[in-house]
Amino acid sequence: MLHPAFEEIACNICGQQKTKIIYPSTLPQDLSLAVTERFAPADHAKGNDQIVQCLNCGLAYANPRMKADYIWQGYSDAVDTKYVTQAEERMRTFKRTIRIIEQYQPQKGKLLDIGCAAGFFLKVAKDAGWNVQGVEPNKGLATFGAARYDVPILSKNFLSSELEASAYDVVTFWDVLEHVPDPSAYIRESHRILKPGGFLFLNFPDFGSRLAQWSGQKWWFLSPVHIYYFNRQTISALLQKEKFAVQKINMHWQTLSLGYLFGKFADYNRFISKTGVALSKMLGMYRLPVRYYASQAMAIAQKPHTSYDKTH
Ligand SMILES: [Zn+2]
Repeated sequence: MLHPAFEEIACNICGQQKTKIIYPSTLPQDLSLAVTERFAPADHAKGNDQIVQCLNCGLAYANPRMKADYIWQGYSDAVDTKYVTQAEERMRTFKRTIRIIEQYQPQKGKLLDIGCAAGFFLKVAKDAGWNVQGVEPNKGLATFGAARYDVPILSKNFLSSELEASAYDVVTFWDVLEHVPDPSAYIRESHRILKPGGFLFLNFPDFGSRLAQWSGQKWWFLSPVHIYYFNRQTISALLQKEKFAVQKINMHWQTLSLGYLFGKFADYNRFISKTGVALSKMLGMYRLPVRYYASQAMAIAQKPHTSYDKTH
């Protein structure tokens, strides 16, 4: 019998229910693990719910999984202490990201960052001359970010934010889509609020990457907090289904400090991890910024212009 806090769900892209099991569950299927532990925003809890793959379209996802109300409760109330310690490094990543965005939208304009956490990206975009706004369900992160960086952050669920239609030049999702119960609804809502010709930028841990294939169930990104596991094909299918034109899917490089990265490596090899943390501290290199590729990909998509374009 399925615990009442859990449910079976259909594929979020094609609606089909026929799946095969990829990884068995390693977590209790009840409430013995607190939702704020399961859904801590960035500091991934260990283990995974059962991961299945849709036999029709190939989307991989957690199923059965906790009902959406519990997931939202987890995100709203979780306290993540490690996330903000990496502000400087995350901002380095975002400085490169904003330059990529400006290749598509050189005239800049109105930018909305969904799931903006403590507003690091908003701060970087604002400094680069963008008119920014953020949405973040985690109350602690939203309050902290708005005060620290003087950026507007709505502490809400994006889907109930009632934002203006066709108002934004750019919408971004950093480390978000794999977390939300209904990714299709997020992409659809992004399409509604973007101006015609506006761009959507998002990153996702690429389940089809060699690293993901090679590390199997030990993959860094396999976590109860990630309820969808996209690859290049399924992210494209999702974007096209919601009327976006996919422009490009790139490898996404990030920056974190050497010590933090060694700490993360504990999932693979505890000895290397501990030695690495100790060594980097000893050599005064704990905070050394390191650019790394951890099987993240970035998708760039455009809301097509309408057939009638005033500028022509
Ligand atoms: Zn499917």
